[in-house]
Amino acid sequence: MREWAMDLHIHTVLSPCAADDMLPSAVMGRAREAGLEILAITDHNSVENAAAFLEKGHEMGIKVFPGMELQTKEDIHLVCLFEQLENALQFQETVYAKLPPLKNKKEALGEQWLVDAHDQKVGEVERLLLVGAALTLEEAVASVHLLQGLCIASHLDRQAFSLWGYLGTIPPGLPLDGVELTPHLARDPAQLAKIKAEGFAYVVSSDAHYLSDLTTPRCFAYIKEATLAELKLALRHEEGRSIRTIR
Ligand SMILES: [Zn+2]
Ligand SMILES: [Zn+2]
Repeated sequence: MREWAMDLHIHTVLSPCAADDMLPSAVMGRAREAGLEILAITDHNSVENAAAFLEKGHEMGIKVFPGMELQTKEDIHLVCLFEQLENALQFQETVYAKLPPLKNKKEALGEQWLVDAHDQKVGEVERLLLVGAALTLEEAVASVHLLQGLCIASHLDRQAFSLWGYLGTIPPGLPLDGVELTPHLARDPAQLAKIKAEGFAYVVSSDAHYLSDLTTPRCFAYIKEATLAELKLALRHEEGRSIRTIR
């Protein structure tokens, strides 16, 4: 076993709020320069750019998990990660069926580009992605688990679009796999105590919307190999696996 540097929350040009240079070559190049070995691609409510980033990651020796940052009915963001692209795409079908049939307002919100592994723009997603899907928190976690995915509550320490912001706690009995904290915010002792009481580790991810967000690794998994099964153990501090974060 060894430590792997990871960043499990990265947006691409598909997210309307992300910069238009969040393209496969640039993201993977920057990640390699920073020493990141495991990434997750997590656009808002879509996994349509995951395949291109997986291909580029494979080429450059970086493990990339296909994922999505889901916005639930309660407007809570969840980082949903999958081992297999097919499972991620299946989850996307579920989510797309639960999104309101609205079009993206690109002048106001930004463009939603689809790209290939060579950074070529190959299309746009027309539907509105920056909106809550009609899936409750509980339904979302269950759907992810049904597809053998991991579900991590995004930026728990932020007020907007977070589980803690909405509920002021981590609800007991919600089978989350972990939570994510923001690199630059002060740690809240009450929140850390609650995370510990729930028995899982927290990860620190960049939530990168710009290339400049991909800097020195801040989160490491002590695992045998770069799989979700290993990460799941690490998030639960099981079988010698663990997560280490630095500030
Ligand atoms: Zn978010
Ligand atoms: Zn995000």
